[in-house]
Amino acid sequence: MRAIQLIKPQQWPELRDIPEPTPGPGQVLIKITAAGLCHSDIAVMNTFAAQAGYKLPMTLGHECVGTIVDAGEGAKPLVTIGENVMIYGPWGCGRCRMCAEGYENYCYEAASRGITPPGLGHDGGCAEYMLVDRARYCIPIGDLDPVQAVPLTDAALTPYHAIQHSRGKLTANSLAVVLGVGGLGHVAIQILKHLTPATVVAVDVSADHLKLARTVGADYTFVSNADAVKAVKDLTSGRGAEAVFDFVGIQATIDLGAQMTKVRGDWNIVGIGGGLAKVGFGAVPYECQVSSPYWGTRGDLYDVVALAQQGFLKIHTERYNLDDGVEAYHRLHQGQVIGRAVLVP
Ligand code: NAD
Ligand code: ZN
Ligand code: ZN
Repeated sequence: MRAIQLIKPQQWPELRDIPEPTPGPGQVLIKITAAGLCHSDIAVMNTFAAQAGYKLPMTLGHECVGTIVDAGEGAKPLVTIGENVMIYGPWGCGRCRMCAEGYENYCYEAASRGITPPGLGHDGGCAEYMLVDRARYCIPIGDLDPVQAVPLTDAALTPYHAIQHSRGKLTANSLAVVLGVGGLGHVAIQILKHLTPATVVAVDVSADHLKLARTVGADYTFVSNADAVKAVKDLTSGRGAEAVFDFVGIQATIDLGAQMTKVRGDWNIVGIGGGLAKVGFGAVPYECQVSSPYWGTRGDLYDVVALAQQGFLKIHTERYNLDDGVEAYHRLHQGQVIGRAVLVP
């Protein structure tokens, strides 16, 4: 089968021919119908693969949708051949206290037991077939179109989880800021608009991405610079935002977030851009809560699927086939993808 694999750290991936996998005990085999490309994949190529010591070559892709075609011993009674499913990505042990509470994304045991997500250690979805380690990661998508469904597994799940954390603060008097209107940010705007009465401000460096922000419901859009801080202050009588969601995480946006968050506000740093927040008395607004959420729970994913099925999430996608997958990664790296790039093998 064909797969887009990272061969060496700090290199672009390659489209290669590799053997089709067969499911072992407990595993499920899916035929991929769509795989989403996330900016974290660029971080995988640049830093994570080397830092985390991933076994290479590794197939990229942690947003995966497919059809169940086979299952190993123990998994067979749990799945239905022919069912269309999305794959919950942050795999955990399923046994520890965190997993027991549903926070498999924060599993205590995953790292020490070598449990890694697809495309982030385990072979991922940028291929014709993929092995899923446990039946519970297969979430039914019903009639959802695979290309529309696949970004729900991360580009929607991650903002949904972050927004749930701050939802109590987002009343009709509140303002929420979305920094970075890419794959995650453009879904975050829709989730904020649907789940909260807060005013939503979107900030990006690209005019095209700000246009997308307005299309999906942002109340105000600003170019990402110091003037955006003033604009947010002007909209809030000088107080700042109840919640900032940073979907870039580079030093420039961290510095904006620090100035945009209000006293008792929430500052959610989701982007993995390598920027660092300075936290300490006087460095952040009084009682400001700083959080760095990772992905979401399986329960969150069921909720996100329901939101999409009810028509509340319109994911903007660019479609590519496997031959154009590496080129799609280049476009993502250059900030040229509008919405989410999705591979259809
Ligand atoms: P993306 O490339 O689709 O979007 C990034 C957006 O940020 C683009 O619209 C770009 O124009 C904008 N941007 C770049 N520089 C900016 C600046 N200085 N100010 C404002 N906007 C700027 O990326 P994505 O796939 O949406 O991922 C976003 C970030 O979230 C990445 O860092 C990714 O690694 C990370 N991520 C984190 C998690 C998590 O669980 N914490 C999950 C998925 C992705
Ligand atoms: Zn991701
Ligand atoms: Zn666990």
